[in-house]
Amino acid sequence: KGRIFSGVQPTHTLHLGNYLGAVRNWVRMQKEFECIFCVVDMHAITLFQEPQALRQNTREVTAAFMASGIDVSHSIIFAQSQNRVHAQLAWILNCVARVGWLNRMTQFKEKAGKDRENASVGLYTYPVLMAADILGYRATHVPVGEDQKQHLELARDIAQKFNNDYGVDCLVPPAPVIGGPAARVMSLRDGTKKMSKSDPSDYSRINMTDDADTIALKLRKAKTDPAPLPGAEVLDAKGAVTAEAEAARPEAYNLLAIYAALSDREIGDVINQFAGREFSAFKRELTDLAVAVLGPIGAEMKRLLAHPGEIDAVLSQGAARARALSEPVLKEIEEVVGFLSA
Ligand code: ATP
Ligand code: MG
Repeated sequence: KGRIFSGVQPTHTLHLGNYLGAVRNWVRMQKEFECIFCVVDMHAITLFQEPQALRQNTREVTAAFMASGIDVSHSIIFAQSQNRVHAQLAWILNCVARVGWLNRMTQFKEKAGKDRENASVGLYTYPVLMAADILGYRATHVPVGEDQKQHLELARDIAQKFNNDYGVDCLVPPAPVIGGPAARVMSLRDGTKKMSKSDPSDYSRINMTDDADTIALKLRKAKTDPAPLPGAEVLDAKGAVTAEAEAARPEAYNLLAIYAALSDREIGDVINQFAGREFSAFKRELTDLAVAVLGPIGAEMKRLLAHPGEIDAVLSQGAARARALSEPVLKEIEEVVGFLSA
């Protein structure tokens, strides 16, 4: 059985992109893999978080995992800061990763913005901490959205360089698992930007806790163009949307892709169904579908969040299991490096 490690930052409540691009796939992978799901609060503070909000978001993300179908009797859910191995291993890997490698990371450039001198050092070494998350458990597979592919490549490079430098076979380079058509859900306001927790506009995303009226409003306001929906002429031989068509109407295809992902169908199928229809009608159908999928999850999240003590207990039990898996790996790595045991 392979082992999966994946994480979400508790920077905000989860959105549809996190659900379709990450959490929903995790739920499906639980049968096939041993799974470790982490609420990465140490990653979250690379950008300032209000402490009270961080605590609340950590619980909300945990509730979202459970409400979506992560089964904690098999899979592990815990918060990153509850297992010190992540921080300790990250230091060692900071000494393996090269400045030149980190300089190529596009997420840092995006998140640091123009005032790069003023970005936290943590934001810069974020991908090294992510490598520690994965390598500390010898995870074989890491499900991520398109946006995290580059960081995963870096984790592989770090594992290989460590093994090379020390002449060992200690770290396992993880394989990416990029999930299906919804690997990249775009913003509702700008079809060229990914849907994101950190987007200042709440109209850019659908949150997993949004009620039916909010979902309806956000989709009604979602950016589109005046043309009716496209038909089969935009599909290539494989039934995928051609790159030219997509580049011309990114917002339109994003909504179609969301519909396809929510209904577990091919986008070509959805395009054939709605060909030539008006966007207003399509948006109403998309609203009904989104409410049908997210409504029960949001309700279950509310139920779970009414008992924060129980969520905290799930996390501390998960943390104990996570420590039991990763502490021996760290010990082995420390021996390889030449640290004396304490
Ligand atoms: P932030 O803006 O704080 O970085 P985020 O929305 O990017 O938040 P993360 O916590 O960074 O969310 O990522 C959690 C998981 O969700 C990752 O596996 C990531 O690849 C996936 N993910 C994030 N955004 C999207 C998206 N728009 N479409 C598909 N998957 C996504
Ligand atoms: Mg992100």
